[in-house]
Amino acid sequence: MNYKLAVIPGDGIGPEVVGETLKVLDKVGERFGHKFEYTKALAGGCAIDATGACLPQETVDICKKSDAVLLGAVGGWKWDSLPGNERPEMALLGLRKELGLFANLRPALLFDVLADACPLKPEIVEGGLDIVVVRELTGGIYFGERGFKDTDMGPAAYDVEQYSEGEVRRIARVAFDMAVKRGGKVTSVDKANVLESSRLWRRVVAQVGEDYLQVELNNLYIDNAAMQLVKNPKQFDVIVTGNIFGDILSDEASMITGSIGLLPSASLAEGNFGMYEPVHGSAPDIAGKDMANPMATILSAAMMLRYTFGLGEEADAVENAVKKVLAEGYRTPDIAKPGEETIGTERTGELIAGAI
Ligand code: NAD
Repeated sequence: MNYKLAVIPGDGIGPEVVGETLKVLDKVGERFGHKFEYTKALAGGCAIDATGACLPQETVDICKKSDAVLLGAVGGWKWDSLPGNERPEMALLGLRKELGLFANLRPALLFDVLADACPLKPEIVEGGLDIVVVRELTGGIYFGERGFKDTDMGPAAYDVEQYSEGEVRRIARVAFDMAVKRGGKVTSVDKANVLESSRLWRRVVAQVGEDYLQVELNNLYIDNAAMQLVKNPKQFDVIVTGNIFGDILSDEASMITGSIGLLPSASLAEGNFGMYEPVHGSAPDIAGKDMANPMATILSAAMMLRYTFGLGEEADAVENAVKKVLAEGYRTPDIAKPGEETIGTERTGELIAGAI
């Protein structure tokens, strides 16, 4: 089969980790008899430099003509002084809106061989962790009305948190469907003791839950959820939450798995279309130094094989290759113990491709 991929390497370590991921996909193609066709596209700071816009229309068109999108990361110090709506990160919001990517799946899986990298006490994570944060991606405060106004305390800025019943219903369905295939538990996270939008969220999630009687539904306030993730993370299976709470909780979940360099993500639209990217950013502090861990992007490609292309065996092959390389003791600096020998981005990619 031929699969068309839009590839957006982006900025900082983006091109490095995406480059290694394409090597791995080529190996998957070789072994399983598929052809992955890549069309490269610009987004982020590099697109601003080349075209003046962080998300050129050409990039949106390439994505829409593809079966899936693989993205590295965008942003960096060079563009940090630009006004908010001209920053490279706006490309991500634009892609989510243009491509209808309303559901962001962020698995947080603690690999047995990396239990040492987890900052929590061993007894808290004993037996491993397997959590998926399902974050609503196209609504909430990141997309609400924003602006400035004068107040009696001086000039003020505001951003509006808003959710419609339809938006909550479709993300809740993604979460419940996922829980049916996993541990049978959904934890919905909100701030319903304060926010009207959260009260609507909680009511609609409960309504959707009535169609999934085999799934246990719990509600937690965001502050309690943030605490519980550290105190007792094993209680979680699928966490569903809005855009801003999901942004924060998924990074917290990432840290308990040891390294942000290991965490993949998928952003799904209706149907099978999806954009796949690592959870981490462009890491300007290590860009160009062959130090970035490409595993998060490689595992994102595995999610793409599974969710968009329906290639479960191929996805397993990629995930097993990553596990094998870790089990053999190879470590990039972000997951190495102090004093341990490390390998670089390229070598990690080669080893994983070799293990396919
Ligand atoms: P970051 O994720 O880029 O980096 C945080 C820390 O984690 C840094 O110390 C970095 O070196 C380390 N790190 C990240 N990825 C790593 C990897 N693969 N291997 C090893 N170490 C890794 O977050 P930040 O520093 O807050 O943001 C840097 C830039 O990235 C900013 O411009 C930000 O806006 C942007 N950003 C982009 C995305 C995205 O494109 N999806 C996401 C988050 C941040």
